[in-house]
Amino acid sequence: MLSTQEKMKDHMLADHGLRKTAFRKEVLSIFLANKGKAVTTASIEDSLKDFDRITLYRTLKSFEEKGLIHLAMDINGQSRYALCDHNCSVDKHQDTHAHFHCDSCGHTTCLDEMHESYEALVPQGYKIKDVQITFSGVCQSCS
Ligand SMILES: [Zn+2]
Ligand SMILES: [Zn+2]
Ligand SMILES: [Zn+2]
Repeated sequence: MLSTQEKMKDHMLADHGLRKTAFRKEVLSIFLANKGKAVTTASIEDSLKDFDRITLYRTLKSFEEKGLIHLAMDINGQSRYALCDHNCSVDKHQDTHAHFHCDSCGHTTCLDEMHESYEALVPQGYKIKDVQITFSGVCQSCS
């Protein structure tokens, strides 16, 4: 019998047109454990027992292409990845939200509620496709 977590992972991969492999599921588990938080490739590597760097790179790339995870730059310009919410699909990402990087604990959090308002910031006729905005400061648990 598959656990609920296992079933969820199977569904998530299938919904995004990804074949399920043990490795993809392992990487997905890390994102599920860090829901709402963006993690660095280094911390993903730390969480994996046994892995091949090329395979991990390809896995992250395919997750990103298929709308399962999105890129979030932290304040140091280091790239991180976070799980997309269900609005993202194989065809398009809808992650035009900002991120918050805590200088104290180093966590980068998705600010999911902040999006639509960006349309008001650009001149009329301009169309936003992607947003990379990262605030830095101190998060709730550190302040
Ligand atoms: Zn997305
Ligand atoms: Zn913090
Ligand atoms: Zn995010």
